[in-house]
Amino acid sequence: MPHVVIIGGGLSGLAVAFRLKQLAPDVSVRVLEHRHRLGGNVGTEDHNGFRVETGPNGFLDRTPFVPRLCRDLGLADRLVAGSEAARKNRYLFLDERLRKLPGGLLGLLTTSLLSTRGKWQLLTEPIRGTPSQLPADESIAEFVTRRAGKEAANIFADALVTGIHAGDPALLSVASAFPRLPVMEREAGSIIRGFMRASKQRRKEAKARGEPPPGPQRMWSFREGLGVLIDELASQLGPSITTGVKVQSVESSAGVAGWVVRGDGRDAWSADAVVLACPAYEQAEILADLDPGLAQDIAGITYNRIAVVALGYRRADCPGQPDGFGYIAPQNTRRDVLGVQWCSSIYPDRAPEGYVLWRALCGGVHRADMVDRDDDSLMRAVHEEMKLAMGVTRSPVFCRIVRWHNAIPQYTIGHRDRVARIDAVIARCPGLILTGNAYRGVAMGDCVEQAEIVAAKLARDLATS
Ligand SMILES: Cc1cc2nc3c(=O)[nH]c(=O)nc-3n(C[C@H](O)[C@H](O)[C@H](O)COP(=O)(O)OP(=O)(O)OC[C@H]3O[C@@H](n4cnc5c(N)ncnc54)[C@H](O)[C@@H]3O)c2cc1C
Repeated sequence: MPHVVIIGGGLSGLAVAFRLKQLAPDVSVRVLEHRHRLGGNVGTEDHNGFRVETGPNGFLDRTPFVPRLCRDLGLADRLVAGSEAARKNRYLFLDERLRKLPGGLLGLLTTSLLSTRGKWQLLTEPIRGTPSQLPADESIAEFVTRRAGKEAANIFADALVTGIHAGDPALLSVASAFPRLPVMEREAGSIIRGFMRASKQRRKEAKARGEPPPGPQRMWSFREGLGVLIDELASQLGPSITTGVKVQSVESSAGVAGWVVRGDGRDAWSADAVVLACPAYEQAEILADLDPGLAQDIAGITYNRIAVVALGYRRADCPGQPDGFGYIAPQNTRRDVLGVQWCSSIYPDRAPEGYVLWRALCGGVHRADMVDRDDDSLMRAVHEEMKLAMGVTRSPVFCRIVRWHNAIPQYTIGHRDRVARIDAVIARCPGLILTGNAYRGVAMGDCVEQAEIVAAKLARDLATS
């Protein structure tokens, strides 16, 4: 029986294990997780009715991978979609006030977020030419400025990057962080045209399957929070998981199986294949003796720092709270708070009756100092922002702070070349696989998509070996 060891029991590692067991029931699978708690970034806590997501707040149905995983785990009927208000009402915090983000073309024409010149530059994007020689790798800021003008880049692209990566659009690579955009430019000659074509294609495919036209993209979770997904993966994987093991190294073995995975002390596991699904800086340490050059390249993938500050207020103390998703303060404004999700407005059962639960994200690439503040100072800073942005009249009744010292990997310029170099080395190490959110997408959907690809490759390779 072939043995596979998966290092890391976050969403990526657990999803690889689950899919591999489905595809190759005869393979022995072992997940090794450092902490005693599974899920990595994903986790839900209940504090007397305030239901706090410590990491992600939901997943998008833009791709089918997480919805399909939920269905295959038997969780489909427990999913809840974010509210309609949360889909439609999203805000920016600019010039010390909340400004609604435009929805659709009419909204763009009438928004006060752009000047007339800014609107003209954005709306004429489809007729802007594409240079014959496109840059090999370009920052998100450069790309959006080139296509849609500086205002669109400073306002919309910055907000998008702040919301997803808590990163800087001038530093992140568009080809790595938003790979569809350069493809649309190349294939459709325009991003707006590219999105229109993609949406037409989705409608056509749905019609061919006899389904109704797909609706707008939504965010999903469970009534009890995303912890449900991790608990169900853990329960179905059962004895295949060992927690409390910090893997130290992976060595190639002269024995029958190709690899030896070493934990703390004398613990060791032989494996025909090893999947590293822990963060990049951990992968680098684990592989340092095997291939120092490879380890150095992996260690070059940097992470930002984020503090999640969940605050509960009495509803009566939040007179002006709009119903919606929340707001983003683009990172170029360098505010204490990068953005706020109005959790109890997005999903049901996030706060006790008569209260609201909001989650502020602080830190990111440019305000990492926020993560170093003590709890009291962090809470007071966020509360001051809530007074300004949301008009709250009294202090919060509940606060929970979670610090992520290595939060979200930053796909900076050169990331694609780095990943290609890493892939080329790994291709020469049969049975060694690197995955997780450090390489090909940070969203939960990206992690589960990669997990499916890894599991399918393992099932194929182990069947033929
Ligand atoms: C604050 C925050 C908000 C986010 N919001 C969203 C969102 O709303 N929507 C969305 O789609 N995505 C969001 N994300 C991103 C998403 O949550 C992550 O990309 C995804 O969960 C990463 O999963 P992973 O399994 O690849 O990595 P991780 O979650 O980092 O899991 C890696 C696991 O490996 C373990 N490990 C580390 N070292 C070792 C070792 N040596 N030996 C054994 N085990 C080890 C760790 O303990 C951990 O459990 C957010 C992330 C953060 C931090």
